Amino acid sequence: MKPEAGIQGTLADRDLQAAIYTATGRLMDKRRESVTPDLLPEYQDLRTLAAAVKRHTLEFLDVYLTQFEAAVESHGGRVIWANDGNGAADFILKLAKERGTSILVKSKSMTSEEIHLNDRLAKHELETVETDLGEYIIQLAEQRPYHIVAPALHMTRHDVAELFTEKLGIENDTVIENQTMTARRVLREKFLAAGIGITGANFLLADSGAVVIVENEGNARLSSSAPKIQIAIAGIEKLIPRARDLGVFLSLLGRSATGQPLTSYTSILSGPRRAGELDGPAEFYVVLLDSGRTKLLADKEKRESLQCIRCGACLNHCPVYRKIGGHSYPWVYSGPIGKIITPQFQGKEKDPWLPFASSLCGVCAEVCPVRIDIPKILLALRRESDKPAEDRRAMKGFAWLMTRPRMYERLVGLGLGFLGRKKDTWVSKVPWPASRGPLRNWLAQRNFPAPPEKSFRVLWAERKK
Ligand code: SF4
Repeated sequence: MKPEAGIQGTLADRDLQAAIYTATGRLMDKRRESVTPDLLPEYQDLRTLAAAVKRHTLEFLDVYLTQFEAAVESHGGRVIWANDGNGAADFILKLAKERGTSILVKSKSMTSEEIHLNDRLAKHELETVETDLGEYIIQLAEQRPYHIVAPALHMTRHDVAELFTEKLGIENDTVIENQTMTARRVLREKFLAAGIGITGANFLLADSGAVVIVENEGNARLSSSAPKIQIAIAGIEKLIPRARDLGVFLSLLGRSATGQPLTSYTSILSGPRRAGELDGPAEFYVVLLDSGRTKLLADKEKRESLQCIRCGACLNHCPVYRKIGGHSYPWVYSGPIGKIITPQFQGKEKDPWLPFASSLCGVCAEVCPVRIDIPKILLALRRESDKPAEDRRAMKGFAWLMTRPRMYERLVGLGLGFLGRKKDTWVSKVPWPASRGPLRNWLAQRNFPAPPEKSFRVLWAERKK
């Protein structure tokens, strides 16, 4: 199996480029077709409402967290407050030890990926098995999720066939249905053997103390009901105030993620099995993770980053993500949302280049179902960063030139003459000395359109004559 590819590896791999473009393109089409004014005339109003609900919840998060805890406990469950990954893992380790469990099944949860839960548990001889098909595939491949909704988006059926042969010792089979049946067979045994099921949470309902999970495979439902113990792990920002608010978010989440009006399963779990109920766990825990969130909450300018419902639409539409893929980002969250929450959760000094890896085209904000203004946050993060001296000098020079339009036009004219390019052509090869100079690496990756023969100002003046 190929290792994770970084930026250069992804750009050089034609198959990988095709896989990313095809998969994200399909998701873009499906989203667009599901939110047309004919099908969903209230789409923009739903976005506005969802953003308002999230903003309000963040404003009163302390109140809603307390309400949520009381509601969970009134149903016989327990809330665990975890400051960080250590706190969450310590609780799960202790519980597994006390209950004598060595196998855990887990449904898809980016929050658990964020704290590297599986690795932490594995150090203590606990086997944690991913049960979402995409997550199961990347767990076998020993990779990080490629995408927050489609973790194995970068892998073709041929890659999966090769992986299953290598890791499960079965014949190479490229038929997707057969691959699914293989995973199903392996995972059924794990569901039966597991003592603890771990799930994520798409939403937490403050008024009813319930955990809401949306999915298409049914594995989250099995993870939360087959084992005797269920643990839901979620960031504190997953709260919404009332069950009646849920409709707004469910209308947006499936459509933004995969173009589905609703996912195949929506589970609303509110505690352990009660007397007379046929299924459900005997013990029910919700681990609420802080891990940098309260710090971000205090930042009024950027706290809207916490409104994210992890739909993945901004990744699918991002020209940078579509080119460099999910493994070129330093953490588990990739794409535009990764660029704003990674520095805010992990510290800006860790990967200072991240907020700069954007063209600021704004498409992420256009498609975000909860109206997060990602470009605005990227600019704020850039302002706060320590830019290298050469960047500062270059931007000063750029600002100087841009405020002198005549000088700019003259320079562009000179440049065009130098390049010998005509209108509507692309500058793909830049002659010496530019091809050897400081822009060498930048130009090696980019073609850009040659400027038109006449500037907008000249055309405008001619038109007004
Ligand atoms: S930032 Fe918006 S578009 Fe991106 S994953 Fe979050 S909710 Fe979806």
